[in-house]
Amino acid sequence: MKLEDELYLVESFYSFQGEGKYVGTPSVFVRFGGCNLNCKGFGVEIVKDGVTLVGCDSLRATNKTHFKDSWTKVTDENFLIDEINSHMIELDFKPDIVITGGEPLLWHKNLLFVHMIKHYLSLGFNLTIETNATIEIDFIKYPFYKNITFAMSVKLKNSGEELEKRVNKRAIKAISYNAKKSFFKFVMDKNHLSTDEIYKITKDSDLSIYCMPLGSTADELNLHDRAVAQFCINHGFRYVDRMHIRLWNNEEGR
Ligand code: SF4
Repeated sequence: MKLEDELYLVESFYSFQGEGKYVGTPSVFVRFGGCNLNCKGFGVEIVKDGVTLVGCDSLRATNKTHFKDSWTKVTDENFLIDEINSHMIELDFKPDIVITGGEPLLWHKNLLFVHMIKHYLSLGFNLTIETNATIEIDFIKYPFYKNITFAMSVKLKNSGEELEKRVNKRAIKAISYNAKKSFFKFVMDKNHLSTDEIYKITKDSDLSIYCMPLGSTADELNLHDRAVAQFCINHGFRYVDRMHIRLWNNEEGR
């Protein structure tokens, strides 16, 4: 079975966007399972099935081996739409829709995924896809993706991933040229505050650059926030916090 034929939903919930360009915006989040990176450098540890897993704060959406049983395999065309709509029943406005993961662009050719995107675009919703920007989209074949905001969280050295795996210049360039509402969102820590990587990754793009502190708890954010903020002040980047973590730490469904 090809990857694009499978589609796994981890969870959906209604909250507000805690980071990036649309911070503070009421949003329905749809989290898909699977990722093409591991990002062990972010150092989040979870013990599962007697094994200590190390990765990012989305481990339960990235680790197929240990978490797939808790994911929902989506096979019905309307399942995702019903799921998203269930969070809007009592709303008298259109929230943003944030598609996240894992790495949701693993599924960007999947028919059910495409159906969901087209449905909400046709209704005038503002959609964001949170991506590591390593998967190249063919915008000629899939032109509707031009109307999406891509929050490109390209991974830096502190992710622990190899450069060749975490930076795909063609994928970044394609999004930068075609999806003009998009932006960069870098996870930074006080021990890796170099402009070199950011300049290399963003040099072919005129999209805005946000930097946010590493941390999956408020205490961890406190270790890095001031240094990252000062780095942004010094170099003209936009500082953005992780507001959902300030408010609720790493509580699920927030
Ligand atoms: S790319 Fe994102 S979701 Fe995937 S492992 Fe890295 S931080 Fe986690």
